[in-house]
Amino acid sequence: MLSRFLKQHTGPLTRDLVQEPGHFGLGKIPSRLKPSSTVTSICGYCATGCQLKIHLDATGEAINLSPQAGYPVNLGMACPKGWQALDPLESPDRATVPLLRDRSGKLMPTDWPTALGTFTQRLKEIQAKHGRESVAFLSTGQIPFEEMAFLGCLFKFGMGFLHGDANTRQCMSTAVTAYKQSFGFDAPPACYSDFEESDVIVLIGANLCIAHPILWQRVMRNQRNPQIIVIDPRATETAQAASQHIALKPKGDLALLYALAHCILRDGRVDAASIARTEGIEEFTEFVKDYSPTSVADRTGQSPATIEALALSVSQPNKRVSWWWTMGINQSYEGVRAAQAVINLCLITGNIGKPGTGPSSITGQCNAMGSRLFSNTTSLVGGNDFSDPEHREKVSAGLRIPVESIPSEPSLAYDQILAAAESGEIKGLWIVATNPFHSWIDSGRLAVLRERLEFLVVQDMYFTTESALAADLVLPAAGWGEKSGCFINSERRIGTLKAVRKAPGQALSDFRIFRLIADAWGCGEMFERWTDPEAAFRMIRDLTKDRPCDITGVEGYEMIDQMGGVQWPYPAGSQGSHPKITNLVSRRLFEDGIYYTPSGKAKILFSPPADLPEPPDSEYPFTLLTGRGTSSQWHTQSRTSKSDILKKLYPARPYVEIHPKDAARYHLKAGSRVTIRSRRGQMDAAVYLAPTVQQGQIFLPMHYPEVNRLTHPSFDPHSRQPNYKACAVSIQRFP
Ligand code: SF4
Repeated sequence: MLSRFLKQHTGPLTRDLVQEPGHFGLGKIPSRLKPSSTVTSICGYCATGCQLKIHLDATGEAINLSPQAGYPVNLGMACPKGWQALDPLESPDRATVPLLRDRSGKLMPTDWPTALGTFTQRLKEIQAKHGRESVAFLSTGQIPFEEMAFLGCLFKFGMGFLHGDANTRQCMSTAVTAYKQSFGFDAPPACYSDFEESDVIVLIGANLCIAHPILWQRVMRNQRNPQIIVIDPRATETAQAASQHIALKPKGDLALLYALAHCILRDGRVDAASIARTEGIEEFTEFVKDYSPTSVADRTGQSPATIEALALSVSQPNKRVSWWWTMGINQSYEGVRAAQAVINLCLITGNIGKPGTGPSSITGQCNAMGSRLFSNTTSLVGGNDFSDPEHREKVSAGLRIPVESIPSEPSLAYDQILAAAESGEIKGLWIVATNPFHSWIDSGRLAVLRERLEFLVVQDMYFTTESALAADLVLPAAGWGEKSGCFINSERRIGTLKAVRKAPGQALSDFRIFRLIADAWGCGEMFERWTDPEAAFRMIRDLTKDRPCDITGVEGYEMIDQMGGVQWPYPAGSQGSHPKITNLVSRRLFEDGIYYTPSGKAKILFSPPADLPEPPDSEYPFTLLTGRGTSSQWHTQSRTSKSDILKKLYPARPYVEIHPKDAARYHLKAGSRVTIRSRRGQMDAAVYLAPTVQQGQIFLPMHYPEVNRLTHPSFDPHSRQPNYKACAVSIQRFP
């Protein structure tokens, strides 16, 4: 079988790919783009989902870009990353041919037939010997959802494996789980226009000025003179610009939120109609009696008077209060309950389903929301459920695949996949467009895990990421700007991206690579309708029918572009008289007070706060906080470090923010070199004196590979999201 495949594809393979119409990973720019001097495309970095106008030359190649003025998300704005989005495509370390590790241990160039043959042979051998749970994939929130769906369906339905997860587990699985449990579906209720329509904007664990600068601009457009409250251990850039900063103790969030509920329920500052649409209010009222402001003062670092005043601010009758959170809540050992504590406050005060309100998570990656609905990892593709026989039948019929191919069991989560690889149960790993050897918590463990893996494949734009350098096989992939598809942003808006550059060398779009792997594996027939991203879009769109995320009213990419993006839900008939689709530009959920639970009511969920997994002590006396450094940096910097302009906007070498009084105790000055140690590893950094960090705490930007050698591997029990935000470390001045 394999030799036949290789025989068929040796030689003509590359030429066939170049000539294939609709193939965006290699070869010509699609002719339909040529007559136009500009096309629009959604930015490929963060989940804000800004639309960029790409300027093309006469051959259809992108030569420059600017933010799109009329788009309802960014309104003509872009952050530095968006402005420089084309830069990373030209980097000399682009993977341009497949690379295969040879007997001497070196990664050497090879051809696609050999790469595909090796991929198939090695993974099939492992599968035959160790079963369908012995290989897993780890993918990303950075690729279009058509590609995510293809990977998830190919791996589980075609190749017959069970376990796959994405790096979205690192950023928003907490929000997903919180929404699912509370609302019956992963349904972020608000839209970005709510930033402009609030009277009180609460940002908890969210540094918009740096992490989501365009959303901060939306806050600045608010004409209602809003009170802006930032709850964060650090006086972040956003906190400094806010009306009020609550300088919380690390992971005091859950206790603080329960104390706020305590005050609001005690004083009857509630919305009775909203509460009537919930379940669990009696138990919650009883539960929060134990969380008086006095009782949580130590845990939160806030005086009872501050907590009482905050409770008044967020429960003002006739004021619109919106709550927004990002990684300060999500990346925690008890993030789900913290997110639900925010949701509970909105439910009891009636701040949901109305303009200027809402408990909303702002996700990290450009297509995190697409991953939630279409990656076929946690949820069955199309917002369906693996455990529901009717959903499996529906997906089977829609994709024309045998229902027996669809597993009913859940996949292992990211941390469980890596633990299984560490213990030797998972022997093959396929990493797509993500870099866990840098980004995973307690990343030093991945070196051990690498030794246990029999075969590691990394599919990426670059051959120089920490993960690609560890691979046995590197598959060269096209990047943003070199392929088409759709992203979904944090307000549930679907937008399209376009191929405006040729991928270098023999790099292929991930979509195309999945097609080739399907053929090589021997399940190509199952995916013969997956001819191009838009064909895939139509198939998986139809799988959303009658689900909360129903987008069956979206005809195709052209319609999405014409409408300025489409928010889900958008069921068939939305353009006519659909009762729920009253605003085609910007819509929020739950305006009718009906949730997706069986009873139609939202659930009020809670449990007591747990202790910090690793509190500071005499040996490791500081609490390490991590987060985004600047708006010019993105995650592991595999792309942003390729832009000369972006690189000028942040320090090249690691730095640590430390309070001046702590620095004085350790005889440190600005620029002093220190070693930072945790129980798991150590790193060096230059001191940056920052009164914005509280005493006893230090802050490290997450973008430097050394940082995650320090972080503590604890996880939220509901979402399995890693707890990146607080662990114990020591500092020592360089001799
Ligand atoms: S805010 Fe996010 S989506 Fe907008 S330009 Fe910047 S990185 Fe891109």
